[in-house]
Amino acid sequence: MHILFDILFRGAKIVDGSGAPWYRGDVGVSNGRIAAVGKLSKESANQVIDVCDRVLCPGFIDVHTHSDFIVFRDPVMLSKLRQGVTTQMVGQCGQSAAPVNEKYAELLESYLGFIMAGTKISWNWKTFDDWLKEVEKLPLAVNMATCLGHGTLRAAVMGFEDREASPQEMEQMKGHLREAMEAGSFGLTSGLIYPPGVYAPKEEMWSLAEVLGETGGLYLTHMRGESGGLLEAVAETIELGRRAGIPVQISHHKALGKDNWGLVTQSLQMVDKARAEGIDVTIDQYPYNNCSTSVRACLPPWAQAGGVHAVCERLADPGTRAKIAEEIKVSLDTSKPCGWESMLRHGGGAAGALVVYCPNTPQWEGKNLQEISAAMNVDPVEAAFRIIESNKGSDLACYAAIGDEDIKTILGHSATMVGADSIPPAEGAKAHPRSFGTHSRIIAKYVREEKTLTLESAVHKMSGMPAARFGLQRKGLIREGMDADILVFDPEKVQDNATYENPTLLASGIDYVFVKGVKTLDGESFTGSAAGEVIRKGR
Ligand SMILES: [Zn+2]
Repeated sequence: MHILFDILFRGAKIVDGSGAPWYRGDVGVSNGRIAAVGKLSKESANQVIDVCDRVLCPGFIDVHTHSDFIVFRDPVMLSKLRQGVTTQMVGQCGQSAAPVNEKYAELLESYLGFIMAGTKISWNWKTFDDWLKEVEKLPLAVNMATCLGHGTLRAAVMGFEDREASPQEMEQMKGHLREAMEAGSFGLTSGLIYPPGVYAPKEEMWSLAEVLGETGGLYLTHMRGESGGLLEAVAETIELGRRAGIPVQISHHKALGKDNWGLVTQSLQMVDKARAEGIDVTIDQYPYNNCSTSVRACLPPWAQAGGVHAVCERLADPGTRAKIAEEIKVSLDTSKPCGWESMLRHGGGAAGALVVYCPNTPQWEGKNLQEISAAMNVDPVEAAFRIIESNKGSDLACYAAIGDEDIKTILGHSATMVGADSIPPAEGAKAHPRSFGTHSRIIAKYVREEKTLTLESAVHKMSGMPAARFGLQRKGLIREGMDADILVFDPEKVQDNATYENPTLLASGIDYVFVKGVKTLDGESFTGSAAGEVIRKGR
């Protein structure tokens, strides 16, 4: 008998990634690609998988991860595979692993500390291409696509200085960006609340966006404001898209702080209006009501300037320490407006600030600042200071700052796709549950329980839509000729299990994950096959 396919998936409900309604069919795979879709049950294959009327859909593309460094310690990333993620996009929020300027190496390492998760890094690269070559040596199970981070880029040229770039420095930054785009980056990301991104005026971003226009890249931004300044920040993002004529994406869209909940209705109207005018704006989002950033992020911006070392120097001066504490305490009065991103205010006070990672004081991991301050017998702000001082840049917290209704409003919007914004936990440490749960939670909570989305729409936002957005030409659809990144599951059984208390519990319910036609997850177990690859744009 003539063998037609390597693998034949028989009797599936095909959710094809386009958003179209499911249909019944079979899928034949040969040489890592989808060879045929349709009525194929009489055809032969080396391996036949009876899907038994479960769902077959494209592997999920996680458009927003901070897995840049964790892959050196954990190239398999079962945390992603168990959610059905077969491709992850790194380099987000302004942070990427390259380019590296040795002169500022120490500052860079503390800047990137909170996504490094204790991974020992050799730093044997300088350019973006050098770094990609190092990642290409790893036995990746999940495909990786990359962006260049503006913070890393700026730090490589001018360190962490709080000033405008000179014309020569601008040219150097543009040169690094061009190099990254030629190496296969998909675009530039920014983190405009974190030093050094916060020091960049919008004109700097406009200037860099010109290079994206020349090279076909996207601009993705952790915007300057996600609370009271949200709408101005959305306007700034749209304005950049208009000026440069490039696609832009609002990262992890949300409104932080109860007094700002509901603003997303207006921000989405701005997106709709811009899109109607021909400006290509899209959104990514994670489905949780806690945001996650450093403990340090609860300090006023001026107190965070200059990196962790400078923060600790300020805290070492009793007068400055008292001044910082006073500003934070004033910001907690929600009857008055607050001129800066006070994370403690947004989280509704100390009880809404959960410390998840602080390796030098592990006794505080998994406790909120109210609990910690009671145990330390000091006030919560002082407790935060002590954690910051003890952990030298490795301090991560979750803040309960996002409205449940806002999550649904954003998720339901046609321009929104799903991105976990996953920050990997250090070994044995806690993190935000989104790292282990996002894509499964979309199906479990927002398709099955809340009915915010149909399954077809949810799958589209996690496969076909991101593939189209980033130009991942062979990903995201169940169509002949596409890479055979394929999932099989019963949508009634898909479940995120990670919680704030147990954030590293793996998701469950995805029965098979295939990456380029290679069975990678079988009955929730990793098969040992690592077929993932680094995807370079345009290759
Ligand atoms: Zn971010």
